Amino acid sequence: MIVYFTVDVEEDCPPFLNTWRGIERGMPRLLDVLSEEGVPATLFTTGEVARRYPELVRMAVAAGHELGCHSDRHGRYVEMTEAAADADIAAASAALRALAPVVSFRAPYLAFPKEYVALLAAHGYAVDSSQGRHKQWRARVHRANGVLRVPASVSSLTLRWPHAVRDALFGRLKDPIVLFCHPWEFVDLRREQLRWDCRIRTGERALASVQSTIRYFKRRGASFGLMRDSAAPDAVTLRL
Ligand SMILES: [Zn+2]
Repeated sequence: MIVYFTVDVEEDCPPFLNTWRGIERGMPRLLDVLSEEGVPATLFTTGEVARRYPELVRMAVAAGHELGCHSDRHGRYVEMTEAAADADIAAASAALRALAPVVSFRAPYLAFPKEYVALLAAHGYAVDSSQGRHKQWRARVHRANGVLRVPASVSSLTLRWPHAVRDALFGRLKDPIVLFCHPWEFVDLRREQLRWDCRIRTGERALASVQSTIRYFKRRGASFGLMRDSAAPDAVTLRL
């Protein structure tokens, strides 16, 4: 069993907030937990984060994590023309690749028109994780326009569920398992005027949930990989 632990590195709870507490306070704590557990992660990062926090990004890459792309400013690709999407991906790629090589991509809101996958190939992307099995139950690992599409397995909220409920769901997931979370979940947002699923069980509890989730998969003998390696020819664990 292979688990890809991924993080969508962006401003706080878009599009509802435009603060950066998750990057400034949540991200360092998450990186500490990943380091303690020896788990490498793929960090789908916006171009805006790369421009604002280049040192944080460099530090994460130096720690062995993969830098991926999460759009330039967390826009909705489904509302962009193809030319606008192309420009957005170009801007994000330039900002991110100034810091590290980038070949993996995830669209904000897990919403990316399939007609735009060719843009990813044109911009040098090998892996796309813009689909979610919890949103499109038919989504499977497949290749399109030369890009390997590896859907997320569950919503980020799942990691914050009470562990008995969460582990029961995890037990039914198909390999490869793609988990994701956001830095702002590790800041206490419970008293914010926000949609309930952005607020509940955030802060310390969310951080503890990440650790117990990692330990759950370790107990099941899982190995943790980087998304860029899923496109490597010897990645036999993927069911195409
Ligand atoms: Zn996002």
